[in-house]
Amino acid sequence: MYSESTRRLHSRKSKGLYRDRLTLEGSQGANVSIAGQDYLSFCSNDYLGLANHPELIQAVCEGAQQYGVGAGASHLIIGHHTSHHNLEEMLADFTGFPRALLFSSGYMANAGVVSALVGRGDEIYSDKLNHASLNDAAMLSNAKWIRYPHLDLAILESRLSVSQAKCKLVMTDAVFSMDGDIAPVAELLVLCEKYNAWLLLDDAHGFGVVGNEGRGIVSHYGLSSPRIIYMATLGKAAGVSGAFIAGQEVVIETLIQYARSYIYTTAMPPLLSYALLKSIELIRREGWRRRKITQLTEYLKNNLKFLRWTLLPSDMPIQPVIIGENREVMQVRNKLQNRGILVPAIRPPTVPKSSARLRISLSAAHSIKDVERLAAALRELE
Ligand SMILES: *Cc1c(COP(=O)(O)O)cnc(C)c1O
Repeated sequence: MYSESTRRLHSRKSKGLYRDRLTLEGSQGANVSIAGQDYLSFCSNDYLGLANHPELIQAVCEGAQQYGVGAGASHLIIGHHTSHHNLEEMLADFTGFPRALLFSSGYMANAGVVSALVGRGDEIYSDKLNHASLNDAAMLSNAKWIRYPHLDLAILESRLSVSQAKCKLVMTDAVFSMDGDIAPVAELLVLCEKYNAWLLLDDAHGFGVVGNEGRGIVSHYGLSSPRIIYMATLGKAAGVSGAFIAGQEVVIETLIQYARSYIYTTAMPPLLSYALLKSIELIRREGWRRRKITQLTEYLKNNLKFLRWTLLPSDMPIQPVIIGENREVMQVRNKLQNRGILVPAIRPPTVPKSSARLRISLSAAHSIKDVERLAAALRELE
């Protein structure tokens, strides 16, 4: 037993794929502290800089006063509190769907919704670059899993057009987590209508960032359809934790009855859903945060234009710099760290082979000066 685990760990190390963790001493933000040292960080998904917002911290304290700490049970037993309920209503209204249902994480939301809607004999169509949680959800569901090349709608259509399955589900990252590009949702919806399929949109990186007042990808494209099942997470731009599915009444009722990752788990602490009510208010009210991300993103792209490394064409705060080989990406990452700058190196299997990259994440908590410091360091290191 142990010798096999040890062998696998060694093998991962020898390929330059070993992963380890940094331990933050304080809060998330543009500046973080690790082992007594300060770093400028471009790692977090806290795009709007809300994770440490004073009004959110205040809301968590109020939520604890009102609800205590733990939910105490699953939603279906006795763990469903008014703060969960009010948040679900607010999220449905904000994203433009009849109903919404809270989950404890995006990973669990994806696992729950896919297995609740499709199973043996059904078919799932998914983009090759989808997030791992969607892939795992597909495997867990026992449906036939068909992956199409990234954004290749012609191949998707050729597969859909010959399908005999009773129930079909097309699923995609709305904003791709490691590339920062956006799925052509309107075109996907046309295919789903033509071939009678559900369309599951994972908007983990779009919610709070794109669309009118940060309402997400559906608002960004101005779409509305009963085929759309919308998933977004609450631990990224919303700055807290958790996730939700929004959709039609029947979809949400189906989840309450059949989504195992909803049923067999303790509800999120009600103080968090209480804080999330404030978070949604901040997302809407502080529009300057989105404008700032746009400004920082443009500034970074302009300053990295002439690098030897390829910048992926992203207009999102996710800005990947493709380095290629695992060792080289780790070297660049380490040299940046020596200069007091943290940028995560993303390697296979999270991304395809030979496309190891620095994944720069910008946040409204950064300043132009911060971005200039990063750009200057990268120009020096290339
Ligand atoms: C982060 C992420 C998830 C998982 O959400 P958690 O709440 O962190 O579990 C799902 N899908 C995508 C695209 C993500 O980036």
